[in-house]
Amino acid sequence: MISLKHLTFIVTLLFIALSFRLAAKNTPALTIDNGKAHYIIQVIKHITWPNEADITQFNIVILGNDKKLVDALNNKADSVIRGKSISVQQFNDLAEINTAPEAIFVVNQKSASLTAIINKKYPNTLIIGNGSAIKEELMIGLLVAKNVIKLSLNLELIGKQGFKISNGLLDFAGTKADFKKQLIDKETTLTKALNDAKVKEAQLKKLNASLANTKTALQKTQSDLDKQNDQLFQIQAELASLKNSRNAIKQELMARKHDLLAQQTLITEKEQEQQRQQQKLLQLKSAIAENEQKLQLQIKELEQQNTIIERKEQKISGQQKLLYITIALALIILLLKFIVLRVSKNRKAANEELAHLNEQLYELATQDDMTKLYNRRHFLELAQRELSQLQRTKGAGAVLMIDIDHFKNINDSYGHAAGDQAIINVANILKDNLREYDMVGRLGGEEFAMFLPNCEIEIATKIAERMRVKIASLSTSYQQTSIKLTVSIGLTAKRADETNIDNIIQRADKALYQAKNSGRDRVVAL
Ligand code: GH3
Ligand code: MG
Ligand code: MG
Repeated sequence: MISLKHLTFIVTLLFIALSFRLAAKNTPALTIDNGKAHYIIQVIKHITWPNEADITQFNIVILGNDKKLVDALNNKADSVIRGKSISVQQFNDLAEINTAPEAIFVVNQKSASLTAIINKKYPNTLIIGNGSAIKEELMIGLLVAKNVIKLSLNLELIGKQGFKISNGLLDFAGTKADFKKQLIDKETTLTKALNDAKVKEAQLKKLNASLANTKTALQKTQSDLDKQNDQLFQIQAELASLKNSRNAIKQELMARKHDLLAQQTLITEKEQEQQRQQQKLLQLKSAIAENEQKLQLQIKELEQQNTIIERKEQKISGQQKLLYITIALALIILLLKFIVLRVSKNRKAANEELAHLNEQLYELATQDDMTKLYNRRHFLELAQRELSQLQRTKGAGAVLMIDIDHFKNINDSYGHAAGDQAIINVANILKDNLREYDMVGRLGGEEFAMFLPNCEIEIATKIAERMRVKIASLSTSYQQTSIKLTVSIGLTAKRADETNIDNIIQRADKALYQAKNSGRDRVVAL
């Protein structure tokens, strides 16, 4: 990085360079052409034209080829004299000039007649030229000798044409002797200024060179610094990564230490275990030794027994023959037993089949095939048995007779199969309403009977009513047709002295008849 010291040094250098540059700009280069241009401007300043009032701009014509003088004059063209600006033009021949200029500078004065021609053509034009004014017959002459410009005035010619010269210019031009002195002074001053300028130019070059050196050195320092900075960043990054890996190693070490401790504990535990097992081993060894002694004793004993056994074996070989005969007999018995078992097994299967057939026979004898309810005969049998039981226990009981209303119409309207489905549905509803000891049977066609043991007439009526409502609210669906039906129920209670079920059924039937007659779809109790 650039330090404050460096910065101050650079700023100082720049300041010095700028001062020199400004100084060089303000002071025009001290050339002969600049000097000539300076004199021409000074002359114009100090002379009044005969037609001064009509002049709006001082037009200066350079007649002939002197480009340097044209340039020098153009550099001064921004000067304003008595409120009038300056313009500079260059022509090679007098004939090319189209308007009268205020001043003509003749580069090459070849004959005195040229001044006369210009005078005649442009009487108000001031004629200036290279060389002595008198000798060259110019109004104003600029003679260059040994890098010194001498101004000479031809007062006669100037006065003849009506120009007026200020005393300042006369003092400046003076007599020949004065001129010489003034010119020498001027030359000395100019030479001195020139020398000073040269010295300053050399100093400036030196400073410029040293500035360039300093700049190169600074650029080098800057690039060195940048490189060092890069290196620093690299080192910092390396440091950071080293730090990271150091931390990772540290953690790894900690983990290993932890593992090591755990393993050490394990080793200690195993060592203790080993010691315990060694002790056990010693105990086992002593036990083995003891057992060995015992074993030897037992071997001796066994040997003794062996001799006894050998003796016994001799005895047994006789007995073995007897054993073989016994085994053969046992096998024959086993075979016989197997045959007997086989026969009894077959008999058992036959018995089971018989039982099953009996079951089916029983079902056929006791059940209505379509509704799976008890058939008339079985229902009456069971009901009679239950009634006798109730007689002994003096329990209550009720009998219900249920008949589907206008069933013929259902058969006629929807067909016999639809009628069957309706009978099955009613049977299922009756089954669903049974209590544990109740029984229901299909007495025939669309007529059913229920026996409710231990049931008072009020409860039986409620049960009957509930079944009636349920049947009336349900509809049998058959082949997309919905069939509505109702039932009439007649019910009666067992009387105290009643022992025959047929009497009770007859009474229930009577009640059913009353239900039918009084409008059907109702329950009547008698
Ligand atoms: P109600 O009892 O209301 O006086 O009129 P009902 O039309 O039911 O009268 P009825 O007892 O005279 O008719 C019973 C009919 O039931 C006669 C018979 O054709 C028919 N039936 C009897 N057993 C079956 C059966 O197992 N299936 C079908 N589909 N119909 C049967
Ligand atoms: Mg009926
Ligand atoms: Mg009937």
